[in-house]
Amino acid sequence: MGESAFPQSPTNATYVDPSAETILEPGLKIGDLFRRNMTQPYVLQRLTQRAWWVQSSNYGTVFFVGERGVLIFDTLEGVYDNISKAVASVTDKPISTAIYPHYHADHIGDIAKYVDAAKRRGSNLEIIASSKTRQSMDLANSSFPRPTKELKWPRDSFQFEGLTVELHGFEWAAHSDDHAAWLLKQERILHSPDLINPDQPPFWRFAGNERFRFHEDNLKQVYGLEWDYLSGSHGNIGSRADIDFQFAFIADLKAAIGKAMGEHPFTEFVDPSAKAHTGFLSKFFAVIAAEATKTLRPKYGRMYGFEEATPPNAEMVAWALFEYR
Ligand SMILES: [Zn+2]
Repeated sequence: MGESAFPQSPTNATYVDPSAETILEPGLKIGDLFRRNMTQPYVLQRLTQRAWWVQSSNYGTVFFVGERGVLIFDTLEGVYDNISKAVASVTDKPISTAIYPHYHADHIGDIAKYVDAAKRRGSNLEIIASSKTRQSMDLANSSFPRPTKELKWPRDSFQFEGLTVELHGFEWAAHSDDHAAWLLKQERILHSPDLINPDQPPFWRFAGNERFRFHEDNLKQVYGLEWDYLSGSHGNIGSRADIDFQFAFIADLKAAIGKAMGEHPFTEFVDPSAKAHTGFLSKFFAVIAAEATKTLRPKYGRMYGFEEATPPNAEMVAWALFEYR
């Protein structure tokens, strides 16, 4: 790859071709991931003796193959056929247990297909989620089936065929009320969908955060847990270098926003001749976001998705900085 290669890796990553057989050395990443996602039914990588990382159409999860069945960590919407093919390519064991990692429909939307596949084999799919996720589903009158087994919020664990799975819920969460990280203890894999997109600057609204305010706290909470592989569902296979990059990017973004706010005070946007005061704030944030993006462009502009993601991310951080002083 030459100097003008796009995208530039945030962590100066070493890339390899994906392998369903060879265990990935921690820290390495899958090369050419976006193109693979757009041209292949799935991208499959073995992480440990019994666990695999899989992605289809830029949506990913982790699965663990036991002696009798398979545990899968999301029932991602719209990609059941590809994900189940990927699982079947490495084992003839059925998917017996699924997790709702948090209550966002895009991560659990194909649950009916997993339930139906289990029924056709004459068994019931076990669905595991935190009590907070079940509450959140109830509040929204969710049409999805409720978990068959609930874990205590925010900390609990369960056993799956010799594997210990720990729930690490974020009591003050940025992404959703029930956002959590799931640790496959013996495999040393941390799966936290939408916490971070490894190998990329932050995705739109920090991977779809409902609020920015607790994002850094949530990243800090998982940093010290014992894992070698980080799965954020989207983006590449991650390591602590990706979290370090995220913190550095946020620090630069906050500084750029502070500078823009200093140069463009809110009063600049107050227009007494306007018909309503509604426009003052949206104009203010639009200018702050555009200025902050311009400040970061020389350092980050060649990284994946920078131009599309940074203005909305800057607006989100600017709002948090404005309100939580
Ligand atoms: Zn989500």
